[in-house]
Amino acid sequence: MSGSQEEQTPEKIPAGMASAMWEIRRLKAGATARSSTAARTAGLREVTREKHKVTGSARSKPAIPRPGEHNPTDMDMPAVSGAGDPMSKAILYDATVCIDCKQCEVACAQQNNLPYDDKIAAESVQSEHKYTVVLANDDKFMRRLCMHCNEPACGSVCPVGALHKTAEGPVVYDVFKCIGCRYCMVACAFSQPKYEWGKLNPRVRKCIMCPDRVKAGRPTACAEICPTGATKFGDRDALIAEAQDRLRQNPANYIPHIYGLNEVGGTSVLILSSVAFESYGLPAPAKLGDTPMPDYTFRILSKIPDFVPLWALVLGGVYWITHRREEVALAEASGHSGQQGGTK
Ligand code: SF4
Ligand code: SF4
Ligand code: SF4
Repeated sequence: MSGSQEEQTPEKIPAGMASAMWEIRRLKAGATARSSTAARTAGLREVTREKHKVTGSARSKPAIPRPGEHNPTDMDMPAVSGAGDPMSKAILYDATVCIDCKQCEVACAQQNNLPYDDKIAAESVQSEHKYTVVLANDDKFMRRLCMHCNEPACGSVCPVGALHKTAEGPVVYDVFKCIGCRYCMVACAFSQPKYEWGKLNPRVRKCIMCPDRVKAGRPTACAEICPTGATKFGDRDALIAEAQDRLRQNPANYIPHIYGLNEVGGTSVLILSSVAFESYGLPAPAKLGDTPMPDYTFRILSKIPDFVPLWALVLGGVYWITHRREEVALAEASGHSGQQGGTK
């Protein structure tokens, strides 16, 4: 943050406005905040023990390539781009050991005070009341959830900074800042943010990677409950090493690719699968590329005249000041959760 930006956060400017002004300046200045991630998290310590150990696939015997034999996983082991802090946390989902028990869906609903019954269990789409879904195609399965991008497009386009990446890995949402513009929904390549269209006081909803649990050194609820270890939580670097090891040990069982390793600059959700990721609605790796989405959004935003975002900012700020806190407080008082996860 520049000196002038520091001068522009006096107490008289509402926090949401100041944050939005900072965000727009950051985008215009080239998203320099990205480079400070490692510094911010330099002191983060490992406190989570991995509880679910999976050694190879439960379905077939590991096939270890002989010396000199071509290993298809080699092509998929480039230097990791956008890996972020080596101590940041991540989820590794290995679809080959998933049994479609849907315990992760149940645990997520409980964790986030969402409804869950037979009808919702049968819903095969994510929604504002279903942050994660297990999709089935014959005997193959795939979980969908927010990928928690290292450089989230949703956060980069949000004019008021309502979505941001935490040092531990989760991309969290602050309803008190959100002005309901829904730019995040447009920007997300994985179609993750959902909107409460049917509510008078709608919020954006998505998986937030259980930030309070993660901060406290606990695994996410979905990882903790998973009976097979298909969903595993831990240090991102350790999970990458484990995923690479699984691909090497059992190449016949997998597509030789760790989804999320480098896509859009890397994500905090890593996926292994035996079938094409696209067949479950995930964007093809070749389509996504390794460039962080905020690089694209910055190129677009940098061409927008200053008055457009500033005018939107003014309107948003007026709305926020006059309505948002009041409405959220009312919703909170009537028993609905207003804030989704930690905001720091
Ligand atoms: S809890 Fe684990 S095994 Fe069960 S559906 Fe979820 S990921 Fe698959
Ligand atoms: S997957 Fe979408 S919603 Fe999740 S962090 Fe990335 S851009 Fe944001
Ligand atoms: S990480 Fe937390 S919020 Fe995300 S799907 Fe798992 S339980 Fe739900």
